Amino acid sequence: RLVCVTGASGFIASWLVKLLLHRGYVVRATVRDLGNPEKTKHLHALEGANERLQLVKANLLDEGTFDAAVDGCEGVFHTASPFYIGVKDPQAEMLDPAVKGTLNVLNACAKASSVKRVVVTSSVAAVTYNSRPRSPDTVVDETWFSDAEYCKQVKLWYHLSKTMAEESAWKFAKEKGIDIVTINPAMVIGTLLQPTLNTSCAAILQLMNGSSTYPNMTFGWVSVKDVAEAHILAFEVPSANGRYLLVEKVAHYSELVKILSKLYPGCAVPTKCADDNPFPPTFTVSKERVEKLGLKYTPIEEALRDTVESLKEKKFLN
Ligand code: NDP
Repeated sequence: RLVCVTGASGFIASWLVKLLLHRGYVVRATVRDLGNPEKTKHLHALEGANERLQLVKANLLDEGTFDAAVDGCEGVFHTASPFYIGVKDPQAEMLDPAVKGTLNVLNACAKASSVKRVVVTSSVAAVTYNSRPRSPDTVVDETWFSDAEYCKQVKLWYHLSKTMAEESAWKFAKEKGIDIVTINPAMVIGTLLQPTLNTSCAAILQLMNGSSTYPNMTFGWVSVKDVAEAHILAFEVPSANGRYLLVEKVAHYSELVKILSKLYPGCAVPTKCADDNPFPPTFTVSKERVEKLGLKYTPIEEALRDTVESLKEKKFLN
């Protein structure tokens, strides 16, 4: 069975390609910079890659660029989207690649009669960023949507890009009758297959790297293996539909440093919060839908250990 993964060189996508190859799929993987061996070496090294991995060049901003990649594929996993901090030109760097890129991919899928389902990597960034109040009793589920106006006001450009990309995806899919499913993970951590440091693992590196304080923030956290597995289940399980939130645990950074200190006694994690403000209220995220899909969550302690071991192995951390 032939499937396509966009943005295959990335953190989550590399795991997705690895698990798809392991399951016996033929994987057509799109990479924007095929000339850079740093982007593809780890993919070529995956088990089954020699026989069943095809690399194709595609940039989110080039119209029609995904047509050839998607043609003949039964499933398409659209993961490519910019995710980094320090954006200077939000429209050009984040919003255009996220929104136009998603429509580019879906347009290619609409033209390819072989495509049965498209799994789109969205995010919790498209779910919880609105002005709805929350408390420890609040259960966030798949009916929640981030508010684009709210994201604009607070200048959360990445969150805005994911919110607008998901909205555009649902609208386009409805108009064209494409079967799409979205996966909405929180902060994804775990073993890095790619040689470069991605944004969510960098958050853990910062804690382990002698920072004097931890951020006063509460996020959801989930293992990269679970995120890749959920993408595959969303494609393989015929009844899969709609959105799937992926959060193993909601935790403030103060809790993460406690877990890291337990896992690595004597490690240099910060003991002070970055400010004196009250901690943001915690909340619960529903696990119901994704567990019904068949996913069993990796405990966050294990995902944190995998992250730290991998950061050490790749020499980001001593
Ligand atoms: P990475 O930065 O590792 O991967 C992003 C991928 O998108 C890279 O392959 C990158 O290519 C590609 N990309 C970016 N811009 C373009 C472009 N213009 N044309 C083609 N490809 C492009 O991040 P993650 O693996 O973490 O993210 C993957 C997906 O998961 C994204 O959609 C992200 O929003 C989503 N996500 C991530 C979470 C996390 O915590 N990591 C949480 C929730 C959702 P290149 O390598 O060339 O830069």
